[in-house]
Amino acid sequence: MAETLNPYHLIGQDQTRRYWESLISSGRFGHAHILSGHSGVGKDAMALTIATTLNCKAEKNKPCGECSACRQMQNFEHPALNLIFALPRRSPSQTDPFAGIKDGEMILINEELGKKVKWPYYHLQIDGANDIRIAAIRKLRKDIYLAHDTGSIRIVIILRAHRMNVEAANALLKILEEPPEGTVFLLTTEFPDRLPDTIRSRCAMHHIPDLSWKLIRDDLVEKKGVDAVQAEISARMAMGDLAAAHTYAEQDNTFWLDRIRATLNTLAREDFVSVHKQTLLLKDKDLENDESRQQFLSLLILFFRDVALDIKPGETALWVAQVQQMQKLFPSCDNHGAIKAIERTKDALARKVHLQLAITSLFFELRKHLRGQKPQD
Ligand SMILES: [Zn+2]
Repeated sequence: MAETLNPYHLIGQDQTRRYWESLISSGRFGHAHILSGHSGVGKDAMALTIATTLNCKAEKNKPCGECSACRQMQNFEHPALNLIFALPRRSPSQTDPFAGIKDGEMILINEELGKKVKWPYYHLQIDGANDIRIAAIRKLRKDIYLAHDTGSIRIVIILRAHRMNVEAANALLKILEEPPEGTVFLLTTEFPDRLPDTIRSRCAMHHIPDLSWKLIRDDLVEKKGVDAVQAEISARMAMGDLAAAHTYAEQDNTFWLDRIRATLNTLAREDFVSVHKQTLLLKDKDLENDESRQQFLSLLILFFRDVALDIKPGETALWVAQVQQMQKLFPSCDNHGAIKAIERTKDALARKVHLQLAITSLFFELRKHLRGQKPQD
């Protein structure tokens, strides 16, 4: 694949692509595979590339990206493609995963799929879609035994396969135990450990490695025209997640740098009243939605990591100056403790705890970490 075209715009992963290329051409390509790796490294893009390679009609240099099979795969319209993902539960139907979903909601789901067609790194965002249920697997079972064009290999891609509930996983296991001829299963997941052992033992496991922040930075600069400083901060904040980096790059990181400076200065020097004021200010003005909260906290984690590891990235002079100032002001800062505290808050906010309480308690904890004190439990 490495010499062939790259219709899914995979970033990096040259070794992974060569590995799959040799696996496919070896003729010993198994029928079930799990592609694991962190969020945003390109697992889905890789699975789609494999699916397209297996069905491409070109003589060589597959996937060509131009034949009818390649184009249909890229548009998720290939008759031999079954794409499975979590859907909201709108009806107790055991056989139709779309039962009870209203037209308006269906339009939104199709829009999400459209974004994934355009850019396979995109994370589908479907309201209430928490798990993959048995209806999806029963429907799949029906589909895969239907006759289809014998010239193609049926491909089942299960996105975020760890979201299968127990019933669905059991139903899938039955299919994997007696796999139909000419069908390939590709399961992508960030959490392979959450899949039952019985499923894992039926699949070949493949790990997709992390993307370096430099690759992500270059992608932001070249494809999105993001300026170098903004691209660097976004890429490093995303910790290997290309999709997250693209989201971060749309926000003004300089603005967040400013907020971090103000916050840490307040935490460092001022009395409790000022800390409380800073909390209210952030809560009411800057942290009004989930995305901005996660962004602020991710940036804060990156900041403490850089202080701890004494990292001086290339382009971000403003950031470097701030890191150095922190190191001078708080030589005994417990950076590790600070990072843990921020990670806990991120997690709590994702579970919708009370915003002001969460931020206030984080700030008071950070205050102690800055001085190198261990907070009392
Ligand atoms: Zn092709």
